[in-house]
Amino acid sequence: MLKLNSNFSKFQQNYLFVTVRNKVNEYKAMHPEKDVISLGIGDVTQPLVPAVIDAMHRAVDEMGKTDTFKGYGQDFGYHTLRNAIIENDYAAYGVKLSLDEVFINDGAKSDTGNIGELFDIDNTVAVCDPVYPVYIDSNVIAGRTGDLIDGRWSKLIYMPCVAENGFVPELPEEKADIIYLCYPNNPTGAHATLDQLKRWVDYALENGSILLYDAAYSAFISDGLPKTIYQVDGAKACAIEFKSFSKTAGFTGVRCGYTVIPKDLQFDGQSLNAMWARRQSTKFNEASYISQVGASAIFTEEGKKQTLDTIAYYKKNAHTIKSGLQKAGFEVYGGENAPYIWLKTPNGLTSWEFFDELLEKTQVVGTPGSGFGPSGEGYFRLTAFGSAENTEEAVRRIVCAF
Ligand code: PLP
Repeated sequence: MLKLNSNFSKFQQNYLFVTVRNKVNEYKAMHPEKDVISLGIGDVTQPLVPAVIDAMHRAVDEMGKTDTFKGYGQDFGYHTLRNAIIENDYAAYGVKLSLDEVFINDGAKSDTGNIGELFDIDNTVAVCDPVYPVYIDSNVIAGRTGDLIDGRWSKLIYMPCVAENGFVPELPEEKADIIYLCYPNNPTGAHATLDQLKRWVDYALENGSILLYDAAYSAFISDGLPKTIYQVDGAKACAIEFKSFSKTAGFTGVRCGYTVIPKDLQFDGQSLNAMWARRQSTKFNEASYISQVGASAIFTEEGKKQTLDTIAYYKKNAHTIKSGLQKAGFEVYGGENAPYIWLKTPNGLTSWEFFDELLEKTQVVGTPGSGFGPSGEGYFRLTAFGSAENTEEAVRRIVCAF
């Protein structure tokens, strides 16, 4: 008889955002007259910029003519896009990459979830706590996490990210083989300095570990902080980096991002770059031509200017939320180099208690910090991805109610 992957039965809850959505739908069904504002799920609201739209229109026209039609893609992404990434996202920060170190994908979620296929099941995994749930859940499915006991996976190393350490974890006492880091961070909105990242690179080089560095929110960095882990010396020998156009340029519905796997990444005499190339040739047929042409347009002069304007719009929202809540006496973090605001729940409420109270009193939806891991208990995440009007209205309601 067919045997199923029994790891799925270890999940005790829905994916976090499904639980949030179900609760909100229940509330809306009971209170159809109420105007609910969502600052919860981290999806963007502003449209694609004109440079991207024009490029995608042209790509659609090309697809409609025999002599310009495109079928399956070109290696691991169209060269125009990979060259634009190398020049703008790396060379501009002093990092040299070759074309075959950049793999275009259909967004960072797939690759952050799939990258574990390169590693043996017996590796020890360390995650920031709180954390973007994909890193843990994909390891649960793979069978690397042990069992869920009192809200913690028995074989996982949790690295608390709390106000005391500026939401950048201490090096673990036990040896970690696979380490997930995400900066600017979802959910805490914190970013790490070059020195802080260097400690991790040094740790990984000393211990033969791999850093899986998720920089999906790098477009929000404006304080001269590192834009890529490869700005740290030695990182090319111990780190894979994931980036996405989802939050940089509103590609959550278009789907395009990329993963950098330097050729210096050699473990046991094997090249991770060659292994990933083999994996992708077997299981992936690239992001669509139209998405990749749209992504290339982000790097044109108009594209850069227009996407920066959109980022500035969200950063203004972040400022509105952060300053508004601070004035109202909330303890608030993040929101400077990231689109997330991480607040301490008032009056000792748990994260879910605050979620319910906020929804009831203000009809504003956020995400309970405990849904991102045990150290997120007592915290709450709001996103800057709403419209400016909704953001201002949400802050006004919260300030009045608390
Ligand atoms: N990484 C982080 C930290 C995220 O927060 C998200 C999305 O919210 C992703 C990756 C996935 O982005 P996408 O698959 O849209 O590129």
